[in-house]
Amino acid sequence: MSEAAIEIRDVVKRYAGSGKAEPKLALKGLSFDVPQGGVFGLLGPNGAGKSTLINIMAGLVNKTSGSISIWGHDIDAHPRNAKLSIGIVPQEIVFDPFFTPFEVLENQGGMYGIARALRRSEELLRAVRLEDKRDAYARTLSGGMKRRLLIAKAMVHSPPILVLDEPTAGVDVELRRQLWELVQELNAQGVTVVLTTHYLEEAEQLCDRIAIINHGELVANKPTAELIGQMGEKIVAVTVDKEVTELPSDPHFRKVEKAGERLIEVTYDKRESNAGKVLARLQEAGFAIEDVTTREADLEDVFVQLTSAGA
Ligand code: ADP
Repeated sequence: MSEAAIEIRDVVKRYAGSGKAEPKLALKGLSFDVPQGGVFGLLGPNGAGKSTLINIMAGLVNKTSGSISIWGHDIDAHPRNAKLSIGIVPQEIVFDPFFTPFEVLENQGGMYGIARALRRSEELLRAVRLEDKRDAYARTLSGGMKRRLLIAKAMVHSPPILVLDEPTAGVDVELRRQLWELVQELNAQGVTVVLTTHYLEEAEQLCDRIAIINHGELVANKPTAELIGQMGEKIVAVTVDKEVTELPSDPHFRKVEKAGERLIEVTYDKRESNAGKVLARLQEAGFAIEDVTTREADLEDVFVQLTSAGA
């Protein structure tokens, strides 16, 4: 098989539109690879086409053209093998409330045709720390427990690839941290992870590579550090001695903003300028400087820049 865990080539999705839904070109010829063994982030604003792509991989939506191969299995030519190679954790939590976590996993194992003796229900419950909820009704589980059960359910057939659609949407900080740990553990055991997220911090923390899609097109696909470093932007926030009425300008400033009554934020490219020059320019413009902080551009800045271009 090829090196990639998932190979996406020229994928187009045109929704025909029915009832109230307008026809829509949701994916405009998307091509990229998800490498094996990493945590791959799929980012993009609402409506970018992330769910459409995941639903195509899950076999829930038919693509209009192009090809996708999962763990070396073309989804059209070998749908069964492709399906066995991927576990998908949906965004929405749906369980029969009267099944216990153990039964949920046993049923799922049965659906995949896994013989009772070979099922891993107990082991998976331990992995997601639900062993003491083995026989509780699913409806009595907390939101976080349900999410962990969904992850276990996606892993019953031991797929080499796990896809999580917005795993921590609407989840509190503590639970988010727990889910991150679980994702990292699975990845450390060799599972290739793909996740979509709205939380840039999550992508920055968890993903070693990030693809950004916007309006059905790929706008970036790079190792996380490179994506952030590529921008080379730095931001210096300067508190001055008086209220800012007029902002200073300079050809080396990428952006100047009044961020508070006496606070000026200057964004510059560190390849062209430095904090010293920025401060000198502010003094020249008549400001006395009381305090200074600097920071590197983070993923949020990169994201805004990349997705605002064609928005
Ligand atoms: P994301 O997951 O990135 O928010 P989606 O894949 O859900 O994006 O949607 C991509 C685009 O396709 C959006 O403009 C959305 O309105 C449209 N779309 C999604 N599903 C349908 C559908 N069933 N019929 C028509 N348009 C759809």
